[in-house]
Amino acid sequence: MPPSHIAILGGGLTGLSSAYHLSRKFPSSLITLLEKQPRFGGWVRSERVQVKDERGNMASVVLEAGPRTLRPNAKSVLELINLLELKSSLVLTRKTSPAAKNRFLYIPGTNGLQLIPSSITSFFSSSLARILVPAILREPFRRYNRPPGITDESLDSFLIRRFGEPFARTFGSAMVHGIYAADSRILSVRAAFPTVWDAEENGGGSVIRGLLSKNERGEAAVDYVLGDMVTAMDGVSVFSFKEGIRTLTDALVLELKRNPKVQLQSGVGVTSLRLNPLHQTFEITTSSHFSFKASHVVSTLSPPVLNILLPPSLPLPHLTENTSSSVTVMNIVFPPSLSGHPIHPPGFGYLIPRPSSGYDTSNSGILGTVFDSSALSGQDTGRLIKLTIMLGGPHPLTPSHTSLPVVLKHLASHLGHPLPEPLLVHSHSHASCIPTLSVGHLERMDELRAVLKALPWNGRLEVIGAGVGGVSVGDCLEAGKRAGCVWR
Ligand SMILES: Cc1cc2nc3c(=O)[nH]c(=O)nc-3n(C[C@H](O)[C@H](O)[C@H](O)COP(=O)(O)OP(=O)(O)OC[C@H]3O[C@@H](n4cnc5c(N)ncnc54)[C@H](O)[C@@H]3O)c2cc1C
Repeated sequence: MPPSHIAILGGGLTGLSSAYHLSRKFPSSLITLLEKQPRFGGWVRSERVQVKDERGNMASVVLEAGPRTLRPNAKSVLELINLLELKSSLVLTRKTSPAAKNRFLYIPGTNGLQLIPSSITSFFSSSLARILVPAILREPFRRYNRPPGITDESLDSFLIRRFGEPFARTFGSAMVHGIYAADSRILSVRAAFPTVWDAEENGGGSVIRGLLSKNERGEAAVDYVLGDMVTAMDGVSVFSFKEGIRTLTDALVLELKRNPKVQLQSGVGVTSLRLNPLHQTFEITTSSHFSFKASHVVSTLSPPVLNILLPPSLPLPHLTENTSSSVTVMNIVFPPSLSGHPIHPPGFGYLIPRPSSGYDTSNSGILGTVFDSSALSGQDTGRLIKLTIMLGGPHPLTPSHTSLPVVLKHLASHLGHPLPEPLLVHSHSHASCIPTLSVGHLERMDELRAVLKALPWNGRLEVIGAGVGGVSVGDCLEAGKRAGCVWR
């Protein structure tokens, strides 16, 4: 028997994807999705704003306060673009474009940005060669050095073992700042970068040999309805949509609202989730003072939030073990150039590694900057320059760190020249927005799933979302696609 009534808790990417795929899998089931905020989308926050340029002409730009770029290897994303007919809204960045080839680091205490090499010639000529060349050339010859019996470790300790400390601190910490806004000494390598963990094993101890041998991960077989999306993504480095990532969530909401079996409720927070083991039903109470019963539940809430909703008599394991990062996102729009000097070099943007002195308030607090108008040209009218600066994560922030004059001063020093007056600044402070999947996360989630599979839960509650299965947009949409796979 298909589920009679599925409740989905949370209306971000994971919740909307779950509702969409479950409504296709179980067309006769009633689905109720509850979202606490007045709008759906969770951390997806795209807005189009009007800006007056330096000549007084109006231009319009898309600003992202949440996710901004997608990678073409996530089949769950490509499938939704195909099924929701969003192909004509895509903005593609080709692998041959400067935005795909040029990514930079800013090393605190040095002058200007340093190009991360993307070809053999640039590999040897780069100012980062001092760190990169010995790390990469020596790695295949380092002996197998995974300590016996370990099943996970931090990305930092993994990279130190294989590539040495300077590489781990410079490249590893910067990459983790860019994706997780987190400390690479806490993030689990297996949860966040499973491919490199597996590559070490497959390469007989060498990550590089393992990556070159291209052993496929043993993923569960899942069918995707991709249409011609794989061809459309040929040669694409990253992509988004003309109106930003909200194109995806808006299209999902529109599609779900057309389905009479799906009820989407925004502005309704779940206040408790109780299981009646005798009747195998859930009772869900809400902030709008109504409650209802559901036969099956998908929680896409952050695990600590779910933990609060459960009765103390029936807790679930490991919901509160990960921390999460808080981030300040500043969108800044500049006129095209300052006396003919480009505001930034052509490229995707730059990241800043962990300071050698550690994370304290003496640092700028900046994790990195995306050159949006270069990374995703095609979203805006006019020739304005759009940057997004990310601050916080492991850096403790004071109000001074996020004040505009201070941020602009740091930005000018990173870019190596003075900056013109910004035309527009939007600043967003996101508390606990990206979970840090800490060492041991995968094993803890296996234990959680085992508890949910057994009585009294009996497989009727699924706990998914960024804090469980991975934070990327692709991970979240994939989790929604797989929700309820074992329900009949
Ligand atoms: C600043 C930032 C930049 C990012 N950049 C990228 C990027 O470029 N590329 C990429 O792939 N990923 C990026 N990510 C990651 C990605 O956007 C997130 O991991 C993803 O949006 C999380 O989706 P989710 O549905 O799992 O969680 P959420 O978006 O957190 O959704 C959960 C929903 O549950 C709701 N909720 C909470 N409590 C209750 C309650 N009691 N009852 C009902 N509803 C409740 C919340 O309001 C929320 O809408 C970024 C994230 C952030 C924050």
